[in-house]
Amino acid sequence: MRILILGPQGSGKGTQAKRIAEAYGVPHVATGDILRAAVADGSELGAQVRPILERGDLVPDELMVDLIRERLADEDGFVLDGFPRTMAQAEALDAMLDEIGKPLDAVILLQVSDEVATARLRARAAAEGRADDSPEAIRNRLRLYHELTELVVERYRLAGTEVVVDGERPHFVSHGGQRRHDVVLGPPRRGGDVGAFLDFLRRHQMSVHEGENAQFAAAHSATRCRPLCR
Ligand code: AMP
Repeated sequence: MRILILGPQGSGKGTQAKRIAEAYGVPHVATGDILRAAVADGSELGAQVRPILERGDLVPDELMVDLIRERLADEDGFVLDGFPRTMAQAEALDAMLDEIGKPLDAVILLQVSDEVATARLRARAAAEGRADDSPEAIRNRLRLYHELTELVVERYRLAGTEVVVDGERPHFVSHGGQRRHDVVLGPPRRGGDVGAFLDFLRRHQMSVHEGENAQFAAAHSATRCRPLCR
């Protein structure tokens, strides 16, 4: 299973990506984690990217593409989190996967408002003290998401591979308690795998949309994939 998880910082990507990766027995490849580990190790790469991370800016595309090419070289499946963030990265990823005949099976988009994302990142800053959770860096990261990464979301939306999840559900902030998601879009491209993926969501008590969350669904034109959502 090759899954891409997209969404702004604070949408719960890391949490969901880990969960899905575990369920499918595939690695969770998070570029932010890789870069933070490089900073912590004091490697050459770490020294190079440290000021960029602290400002909440983006690491240059060529560097990111090389890093991902190397990381995915021997992987059959993965949950990719934090990459691609720009159109150039998305094009490079698609070309890379095309070349080896291993296209993405699903793209998950976690949808949250800037207000919710900001509140969660501030809470995380208080709890973990991440250098890029300063108010300026948070603003910068969300701005870059809207300016650059939303184009990537649109690219995959047009390719018909995305599943949209309402990331503001309480589930996405609490790790315990009742588990519940609302999946409102199904990706119709590669039937078998995607069907299995939606089954997985159901097995994990995530509710696949059937009209109950109609407003959210309407906002994301969920009717396109109704048959898959049943
Ligand atoms: P994240 O943990 O995904 O929010 O990433 C933390 C930081 O790492 C980002 O704010 C960027 O500075 C950098 N980063 C992670 N992934 C990428 C990427 N695909 N392209 C450019 N910069 C990235």
